Amino acid sequence: MLGDNLLLLSAPRGARICLRIYLMEMARKNILDLSHTQLKEFVCSLGEPAYRADQILWWVYKKLAISFEEMTDLPQTLRQKLISGALLSSLATVAEKISADGQTRKVLFRLDDGRTIESSFMLYGRAGSSRERRTVCVSTQVGCPIGCSFCATGQQGFERNLRPGEIIEQVLYFMRSMNKEVDTDLARRPVTNVVFMGMGEPLANYEAVWLSIEMLNSKQGLNLGARQITISTVGLVPQIQRLASENIHVELAISLHAANDELRNRLVPINKKYPLKQLMAACREYFEKTGRRPTFEYALFRGINDSVGHARELAGLLQGLNCHVNLITGNPTKSKEFMPSSRNTVLAFQKQLTASGISNTLRLSKGVDIEAGCGQLRSRWIAIR
Ligand code: SF4
Repeated sequence: MLGDNLLLLSAPRGARICLRIYLMEMARKNILDLSHTQLKEFVCSLGEPAYRADQILWWVYKKLAISFEEMTDLPQTLRQKLISGALLSSLATVAEKISADGQTRKVLFRLDDGRTIESSFMLYGRAGSSRERRTVCVSTQVGCPIGCSFCATGQQGFERNLRPGEIIEQVLYFMRSMNKEVDTDLARRPVTNVVFMGMGEPLANYEAVWLSIEMLNSKQGLNLGARQITISTVGLVPQIQRLASENIHVELAISLHAANDELRNRLVPINKKYPLKQLMAACREYFEKTGRRPTFEYALFRGINDSVGHARELAGLLQGLNCHVNLITGNPTKSKEFMPSSRNTVLAFQKQLTASGISNTLRLSKGVDIEAGCGQLRSRWIAIR
């Protein structure tokens, strides 16, 4: 606290006010940061019976409440205690973009310490069909410590991990906003899938990511099936092994992008620490323990990893592993080095992969017109401030 006061005294007046508000907010518990058990403990610490926690969760995750005042079946005294001692939100919307086809939304959020993150919502498949997906892509860190050479976020550096509530609220934001679209199917079932593929490396923020998954999956939370939740990682081997031992078996996606160590060291530098041999062994272990077939994400960059020879090499690496490959035509960034491959090159790559017996899907970039690539909207925001 002494350190906080010294900070307050030495800061300029405007910053002092922001800092004081931030410190006051930090002293309040964000309900979204708490597991079910932690929420019960918190409610008991307020002198209330533990079952009130279930009522609060019902309001937060089923009714999508944004204030404690709405929780009308809680006693007035408890609502007052929650209003003064707890929070239900720590994200403020800075900018929102909707793609021309209306299928992708991208939001830039400001956190309570002034930092910014971004999240996307994407519609896939024909509306109303069984293949329709309403997917939220969440960020897990401010910036990213991994520093992949082709990635906008990787070039911004790392600032901090997100707390569980800051991850969960990204999903709730889209659910709340679509919940207003009354009498539409979108309002009844606004989010079907959550992918941890936004800014940051999810497995480098394991505890917060795992708590958020528990609340997304839990019956008292959003009740999303484990199959509807995907963690994407560049390949942190010890954390993949830990994930394999958890009781919720989520889908695993590996950002591969190269099938030999030399090229992958260049694109995804963490490969120097966990080379392909170790990564493939961890993926096999994940499949054996969870029954979940890993997906490999492979973004094609012009003249770098997109030749037919690279496709053969990829097929060789994955031979015998029950898996699927998503080929991604990269979103164009400002980088002159990492340009998207041409359509013919992509099709030739896919043809070779298919001929080699590797299950694959060609994913077209979504939301190019709204900078839906990882970190692009935030990069623009930082650049214009
Ligand atoms: S691709 Fe993912 S892991 Fe790599 S720098 Fe970007 S956000 Fe981080």
